[in-house]
Amino acid sequence: MRILKQEIYFPIIVGIHLIFWCIDLYFFSGNFTEVDSDTMFFGRLQNASGLNSHRIIGEIFSSWVVTVFAFNFLMATRAKWVENLFGGLDKMYLIHKRSGVIAVILLLAHFIVVPRAIDFNPGKPLGFYALILILIGVIVSAVPVFKKKIPYHKWINFHKLMGVFYTLGVIHGFMVDSLIKQLPITRIYVFSMAMIGILAWVYKAFLFDLFNKKLNYAVKQVKNLGNNITELELVAQNKSLNFKAGQFAFFTFPSINKREQHPFTISSHPHQKNLKITIKGLGDYTDNFANKVNINDDVFVEGPYGKFSSGYSKEKEQVWIAGGIGITPFLALINDYYTNKVVLYWCVNNESEAVYKTPLETIAKSNPLFEFILWNSEKRGHITVDDLSIRDPEKRAYLICGPKALKENITKQLKQEGVKQSSIYDEEFTFR
Ligand SMILES: Cc1cc2nc3c(=O)[nH]c(=O)nc-3n(C[C@H](O)[C@H](O)[C@H](O)COP(=O)(O)OP(=O)(O)OC[C@H]3O[C@@H](n4cnc5c(N)ncnc54)[C@H](O)[C@@H]3O)c2cc1C
Repeated sequence: MRILKQEIYFPIIVGIHLIFWCIDLYFFSGNFTEVDSDTMFFGRLQNASGLNSHRIIGEIFSSWVVTVFAFNFLMATRAKWVENLFGGLDKMYLIHKRSGVIAVILLLAHFIVVPRAIDFNPGKPLGFYALILILIGVIVSAVPVFKKKIPYHKWINFHKLMGVFYTLGVIHGFMVDSLIKQLPITRIYVFSMAMIGILAWVYKAFLFDLFNKKLNYAVKQVKNLGNNITELELVAQNKSLNFKAGQFAFFTFPSINKREQHPFTISSHPHQKNLKITIKGLGDYTDNFANKVNINDDVFVEGPYGKFSSGYSKEKEQVWIAGGIGITPFLALINDYYTNKVVLYWCVNNESEAVYKTPLETIAKSNPLFEFILWNSEKRGHITVDDLSIRDPEKRAYLICGPKALKENITKQLKQEGVKQSSIYDEEFTFR
């Protein structure tokens, strides 16, 4: 169950803040007029007449920034309860990404609006440096051109510095003479969130590996399936991973790189003894993977994560749509127990990419509840909801895994056919 969708996540954060601010301001007995200050665009403020609105609005922006980033650091801990709230790590990282951008816009708004006390305070330049660093951090993290140019492992190392930039911002908040410090509820909330954010970052950056012991597996079999696709079978060296069909985990292959961790869906079913993953070469790490690993190589597995499951809608007939390597969760799910009909459409660019065609056809022949249709996009164009020719589409459940464009197009068309979002489940294959 996905509790926190972004449609409700942001209003909750904004709403909680406003409630605290309103209560505090209602009971505030101090003086709003004491700030004789400069603003960036609104000139000098000598607000002797009453409410210093610049100060209030500017500080509301900053308190949002503190909490939005604090939640982002909490998300980065990959804690199970946080993942559960967001309905899967992939969904959570999507919100994490958007929150970062929103936080930076709020930060700029704070900088523009908030009055600057005329007296020197070392917290002021510190806040300015934090602003510049956070701005650079979010631009590098979120702007597509940087994401394309910078390899993931370098990008993630830089991204981890966000915690340092954030801490500088929080120290600035402690040092400057702020209204928040005079508001009891808002003060406790904002500074507690700041502490939670910093602690979450410290935990993820320095303690995560200590508390999350990875499971040791070894490579048992390497199959080069052609088309730059490699299937690996992994055998547990001591404890096995406890997972559900459709979930994924993070894999480290020390023989390739001791520190790099990549997410791959587990394509074997939990009742099978060994783990299987299928890797498509999509970048420097995964390219030509079959030639990078050897039998008996160590593999460290952290997980499981994800909520992609056919279990949500067992009572309904299901339509599964996979694009390319997005077939991997379905390879596990076909071995799950289901009592209603399932039709799997696998969209590939050409037949040579359909490396699991034969086993899927074999299962379809022996299981009357499972139908398999291979969709060759080169010959038939991109699949549409009309091509699925489903009777009463709104009565079915849909599981989609594949390229972003496929997911977005199919979801949009399904909604036009009257299918509710709650009957559509998808899996993101990218975190940044
Ligand atoms: C939930 C999930 C399940 C996935 N399951 C599969 C699967 O079953 N089979 C498969 O072939 N691929 C799967 N992927 C994609 C796979 O993780 C990436 O293709 C792989 O990590 C690319 O690494 P690269 O260095 O070769 O490519 P790059 O060119 O460096 O990266 C391509 C993109 O992959 C993502 N990526 C790269 N490295 C990482 C990393 N360490 N952690 C997170 N994301 C990264 C980034 O979005 C990056 O932009 C899955 C991804 C996710 C998020």
